[in-house]
Parts: sequence; C-alpha cells; structure tokens
Amino acid sequence: MDSDKKQCVYCGKSILGRIDKKFCDDYCRNSYNNQRRIGDSAEVKNIIGYLKINRNILESILVDGIEKVKIPKERLQQLGYHFKYHTHTYINWKGNVYTYSFEYGYVEMEGGWVLVVRDLGDSYLKGEKRE
Ligand SMILES: [Zn+2]
Repeated sequence: MDSDKKQCVYCGKSILGRIDKKFCDDYCRNSYNNQRRIGDSAEVKNIIGYLKINRNILESILVDGIEKVKIPKERLQQLGYHFKYHTHTYINWKGNVYTYSFEYGYVEMEGGWVLVVRDLGDSYLKGEKRE
C-alpha cells in the first residue's frame, strides 16, 4: 500500500498507482524530458549564441532602418560571422538563396559580395516580386 502522496515531476499533480511512478502519463514524461534535454545541452546554448552573434552583426550593418546593404563577404568574416549556423533559408523567385539568422539574413552575390537584408515579412516578399 502506498499511502505517500506522490507528485508528478512535471505538472505537480498527485499521482495514483505504483509508488515508483514519477509522472502522471506519457505526456508529462515526454514534456519533462524534452525540456530538460534541450535546456541542459551546452551545444544548444553555444549554437544559439552563434546565431545571436550572427544576427547582431547583420543588424549592425543595417543601421538607421536601411533594408539592404551590399558589402564584401570578407567583412562578415572579419566581424566574426559564423557561416556554419543559420535559422532558416529563403529562396526567391529568381532562385537566390537568402540565409537568415532570425530576422536578418544575407544572399551571396558575384565577385565575393553579399547583400545583407532584413526580413520584412509579407511586404518584403511582395517587393521582391515587383523587381
Ligand atoms: Zn503530470
């Protein structure tokens, strides 16, 4: 007989049943494990750090609300940009691949140049199509 009131490690509700149970159900067990795994991982924290650095570098290039700036790719390297990491990519109708770190990104151009852009959402995409 288990008279001790056990509580779910994830949601804190009382658990009925076997004394060795730690969670009320699979949902709580999975939620707890997922949260813990991603929160504990030094690698995840490092990558998020790199993405933030990338974002801040691009933001520092697009000063005063400028939407696009063409710079040598070398410049990003000098500023410490981590080309290995990005949050997502976008391919426009011309087939150019934009590589983003959060809402800032860049697209490679000929001659070692890149165009740094800010993702303006739908209005930005419509603007692209009018070109
Ligand atoms: Zn629970």
